Amino acid sequence: MKEVRPPKRPLIFYYCVAMLVLLLFNFLAMPWMAKQQVREVDYGTFMDMAENHQLGQVEIQETENQIVFTDKDNTVVYITGMVPDPDLKQMLKDSGARFTGEVIQQTDPIVSFLLSWVLPIVIFIALGQYLSRRMMKNLGGPNAMAFGRSSAKMYVKSSEGIKFSDVAGEDEAKENLQEIVEYLHDPKKYREIGATMPKGVLLVGPPGTGKTMLAKAVAGEANVPFFSMSGSEFVEMFVGMGASKVRDLFRQAKEKAPCIVFIDEIDAIGKKRDGQMGGNDEREQTLNQLLTEMDGFEGNTGVIILAATNRPESLDPALTRPGRFDRRVPVELPDLKGREDILKVHAKRIKVAEDVDWNRIARMASGASGAELANIVNEAALRAVRNGRRFATEADLEESIEVVIAGYQKKNAILTDGEKKIVAYHEIGHALVAAKQTDSAPVQKITIIPRTSGALGYTMQVDEGNHYLMSREELENKIATLTGGRAAEELVFRSASTGASNDIEQATKLARAMITRYGMSEDFDMVALETVQNQYLGGDASLACSAETAAKIDQQVVELVKRQHEKASRILSDNREKLDELAEYLYEKETITGDEFMTILNK
Ligand code: ADP
Repeated sequence: MKEVRPPKRPLIFYYCVAMLVLLLFNFLAMPWMAKQQVREVDYGTFMDMAENHQLGQVEIQETENQIVFTDKDNTVVYITGMVPDPDLKQMLKDSGARFTGEVIQQTDPIVSFLLSWVLPIVIFIALGQYLSRRMMKNLGGPNAMAFGRSSAKMYVKSSEGIKFSDVAGEDEAKENLQEIVEYLHDPKKYREIGATMPKGVLLVGPPGTGKTMLAKAVAGEANVPFFSMSGSEFVEMFVGMGASKVRDLFRQAKEKAPCIVFIDEIDAIGKKRDGQMGGNDEREQTLNQLLTEMDGFEGNTGVIILAATNRPESLDPALTRPGRFDRRVPVELPDLKGREDILKVHAKRIKVAEDVDWNRIARMASGASGAELANIVNEAALRAVRNGRRFATEADLEESIEVVIAGYQKKNAILTDGEKKIVAYHEIGHALVAAKQTDSAPVQKITIIPRTSGALGYTMQVDEGNHYLMSREELENKIATLTGGRAAEELVFRSASTGASNDIEQATKLARAMITRYGMSEDFDMVALETVQNQYLGGDASLACSAETAAKIDQQVVELVKRQHEKASRILSDNREKLDELAEYLYEKETITGDEFMTILNK
């Protein structure tokens, strides 16, 4: 059932209501209550009481045309209308009444004090309480009174959670973390020999490589509570709030020790303190508190802090020094074996055909992170359902890799005949240049079906095994392959099209990196001319050289790309017949496999 909530009213509404209540109270209720205490009598009664000496205090209110008086004990207040009576003063004098000019309190002074002073204050305090409670609720659910308390998610039942076996690949990282698991199981063993465990372990690597998973797996294996919080959750609008959250998190952790505290995206609070103008006070205070807390507990209390980041270079050196995060575990993109394992782990959750060649799929998905591989498997399952099949096949997996790389097939993008021909030649140009250079990886698949990413076609190359190093020749061949598409267009149509923009970008990036970072130019020898900034996030580089050198670099980049472009053109014109034949074939079929390509080439 849906929860129905009354619409929220603005704050001013409640204040208006409170004011109205008070005003009504003063104007209506007070006089009424006053009247309850006052007894109205006629003038005759007043005269009788005066004659019998029963009057206490008397006040003549001429403007109101009335007389207010009390009895001898001042307990009851009477009121009577005034009658023109010349003997009034004499009569009062004889009666012994006091008329001192004091105003007769028509109500009990205590009651009147309570009503006119205490009650309004009480009403306002109650209203304030009610409103602040409502606001807290709106701010953050049932725990909202916990300002400055950490909102760490706690997973106590970690025994049912993720285990190391769920994290495929990443063997080095797992080995590194295994020690921590053993320590949490049996800290005595370590204490006896005098070893202290690292207080903090920093997991660094590109996004989606399983850092969070690994941290959870450590908790799962060690069967201890696991506190998880993201760095950005510490940073609040108010200065000092983050610091108090850090304190609270560590207090909770110490109570639950042995346990694991996991701080995701620690760069959100752990950035270098640069002391520039307009610095972020809240962030710096939070970081300072974190540093203090990490110093404050002994290495053997059983609280282990795991943190993840993909920007290790931006962290404050004070945070990464030994004694705080003294261990750094790299969690890199998976290699071929790792990719295969990750695919298999995720394939257990879906129904797949038995004859899937996982090694081939893993080779096709080169460079994919764990999260992307998980996505590929899920896309395959979705595609199987869409096509009304009970289980996913290898073709589904292959297609979903393409979806992840290049987007979905465009259903109604109709290329003109001329365009289709250009695209076919362009793609065969890439493939032919790749195949003719001995060191280039063979072609897996060529297609000219437009994709939603904007690619009109692409050539999928597949590395045979793992590749850790690339030689100068390999890099040059890669640039030549990238220029192959444009070279084919020029050779056949004697013109250039816009389809090569992505190739140009990649070729330039490679050529620039060869000269500025890999020391592969004659002039500059082994001098670093660029520094990489975000190693794990795109790897943008910034120049670190003089303007003249920058100009020379540009010149060399142009020469390098030009040389490879010429090489590609040469290869294609030497194989012109094959180029025509293959392009014709691709134009007819739209998608061809690497095997078909090689058969025609070697015919
Ligand atoms: P990170 O914290 O490094 O950004 P996560 O740990 O959140 O990445 O991983 C995101 C998802 O990717 C996980 O939920 C999991 O499905 C998948 N994944 C990543 N790496 C692996 C791996 N090594 N084994 C299995 N699944 C993985």
